[in-house]
Amino acid sequence: MQHDLELISVGKTYSDGTVAVSNFDLKVAKGEFVAFLGPSGCGKSTTLRMIAGFEDITEGEVMMMGRNVTHLPPEKRPTSMIFQNYALFPHMTVRQNVAFGLDVKGMAKAERNRKVDRILDMFDLEPYADRKADRLSGGQRQRIALARGLVVEPEILLLDEPLGALDANLRRIIQNELKLLQRELGITFVFVTHAQSEALGLSDRVVVMSNGVVEQISPPRELYRRPATPFVADFIGSNTILRGRSVGTDGPAFGRIDTAVGLIDGVGPAGATMAVIPAEAFRIQPQHTPGEVHLPGTLSARRLVGAVGHLKVRLADDTEIAVEIGADRPEVRALQIGAPVTLGVDPASVTLIQA
Ligand code: ADP
Repeated sequence: MQHDLELISVGKTYSDGTVAVSNFDLKVAKGEFVAFLGPSGCGKSTTLRMIAGFEDITEGEVMMMGRNVTHLPPEKRPTSMIFQNYALFPHMTVRQNVAFGLDVKGMAKAERNRKVDRILDMFDLEPYADRKADRLSGGQRQRIALARGLVVEPEILLLDEPLGALDANLRRIIQNELKLLQRELGITFVFVTHAQSEALGLSDRVVVMSNGVVEQISPPRELYRRPATPFVADFIGSNTILRGRSVGTDGPAFGRIDTAVGLIDGVGPAGATMAVIPAEAFRIQPQHTPGEVHLPGTLSARRLVGAVGHLKVRLADDTEIAVEIGADRPEVRALQIGAPVTLGVDPASVTLIQA
């Protein structure tokens, strides 16, 4: 199957010797929305710039629509990039800003004007078409940047923290617009962000990066349910991580590890040494169910946030576990701080990984 975008063992070493990215493999289908997520400095922007052609690729290859573009300049690639600060020309009008990419391509004036009018209309920017770009609000500037990126009709739109400059409210509104727009146009989006909620809420798949390497590529739900590495388990959601020693398997998909707080069964390979349990997978004071993981402890903190009770339970070895449970559950209301509690977990909700 041909992909819109394919990275094959892509790497980047800057001239000062900094290894920013290594062995990045990724295949992106047409119309897919992929987010690069990770802490600052993990190599997200470097990768995006290599895809755009703004940065030399020092290892590996980049393919677009089956064509090798590794050494093509940006204007020869079927991509368009939206920058964090929008990179608008402040002294130019909105219309001139949007027309810029088409002027660079040397498009005939009539065709150019037609395309610019259409996209200004689509983004409700017509009333501002002849205003200078620096006379507009953050949200409007964001729309101009999007219009400018899309007017050249790219196959792949690259977005580098495009919502970073907006306040929280506007951010939410534009997030929704962006998702609708992407569905409507069917264009492939590659989106860089360090904001977890943005990556998980917008994209079909998330590439989690740390220190220049890809940790996991999965749909958002899968990152929560089945983190593949210790980094992802720690970075995404709210997980308890218990280390132990592998003591064999219990069926093909299940493993068992011996931890300081007892034996824990979970889904994962034989030889795994770490159990990852999402905060919302715990039950409080469960009936004894054969096969279920049971962890005795004491309640050390309780905070009710709307419909969710955030509890802390301290286990015998002093590990403190984060538990999220419906705030209206009677056992949550009844428990006093310091009371003994037992946590129960279905092994199917436990992920075992190799540390
Ligand atoms: P992110 O986008 O995830 O914040 P970057 O891709 O910007 O990360 O940076 C990845 C690594 O490469 C960082 O260690 C950063 O300091 C380094 N880096 C980025 N740009 C350059 C450059 N022009 N020269 C040298 N090192 C750079």
